Amino acid sequence: MKNYLLLCCILIAGCSPAPDFKTFPKIDTHVHLETADDSFVQVVEDNNFQLLTLVTRSEKPEVIKKEFDFAINLYKGHPKTIGAATTISMEGFGEPEWQENTIAWLQECFDAGAIAVKIWKDVGMTFRNPDSTFVFIDDPRFDPILDFIEAQNKTLVNHTAEPKNCWLPLSEMTVLGDSSYFAEHPQYHMYLHPDYPSREEILAARDRMLKKHPNLRYVGCHLGSMEWSVDEMATWLDQFPNYGLDMAARIVHFKVQDHEKVRDFIIKYQDQLIYGTDIAINDRGNSTTKETIQNIVNEVWMDDWKYFSTDDLLKQHDKVKEYQGLKLPVPVLQKIYHDNALRMFPGLGQDAVN
Ligand SMILES: [Zn+2]
Repeated sequence: MKNYLLLCCILIAGCSPAPDFKTFPKIDTHVHLETADDSFVQVVEDNNFQLLTLVTRSEKPEVIKKEFDFAINLYKGHPKTIGAATTISMEGFGEPEWQENTIAWLQECFDAGAIAVKIWKDVGMTFRNPDSTFVFIDDPRFDPILDFIEAQNKTLVNHTAEPKNCWLPLSEMTVLGDSSYFAEHPQYHMYLHPDYPSREEILAARDRMLKKHPNLRYVGCHLGSMEWSVDEMATWLDQFPNYGLDMAARIVHFKVQDHEKVRDFIIKYQDQLIYGTDIAINDRGNSTTKETIQNIVNEVWMDDWKYFSTDDLLKQHDKVKEYQGLKLPVPVLQKIYHDNALRMFPGLGQDAVN
């Protein structure tokens, strides 16, 4: 009788419906909000989401300031729903006052309520020293900035390198999104630019930086540009057990790898993987309308939710490929969709102290 009951429980658990999308608490830790129109926030809240908006690109200080103002005003209007991450400008990097100015800027952002700092892929792929060598993230001139972020108990969010596909010919790329993007943007297609640093070189610089700053809280964007292989990610996550990886715009790379292997990987590293999408909401192209936001809910967030929470046979939007959902255990969903983000981004969902 006991065994029969146990079997029933297992069977029931096996066919249990996925948790409800709308009510499950969820955080998207990688979005880009550049708008003063906050009407979309209602749709976000109706779907029980919180967002972390990242200011990205190491632009001129005045451009960064403008983008940060969007982010921080959205945070101030909706502190329970939206968190803001700032970024730094590389203008004047190498000049004596750069470090002091950068730390003063970060202090201003933290005082306003920013909880994280994003450093973009242009460090390692664009900026050069006067002798034309590339500037990498382990350059000692970044150390005081990284020490300051750590001392202020903020998080470094780092997009470094690109997907492995970027260094492959178009015909060998594993996902359609990458081959069409790099066909349209040959200037970013590193296979065509062998004089630029390799993915391995850029990621090695990241790892040297992390070893110099073992107590810095670190989230690698886009699965840390190791998206092509759960084995490569596993090796890295074992080496850096306190750090996290966001999945933004790279979930598709899980779908082209072995289903069971990916599922086992996510379950094993359930404390270090963080949900994110890379969606943008801005005033360009009318994309702040409620209708547009509802489309994001249906086409991005719902699709990902079905992939992680059900074992349905699903189709990509481009209809090229079918793939099966992972049906992750509910406690794992709880971590990747919510708990890990709160742990890696202290202050998310809270009013500023001052
Ligand atoms: Zn992004």
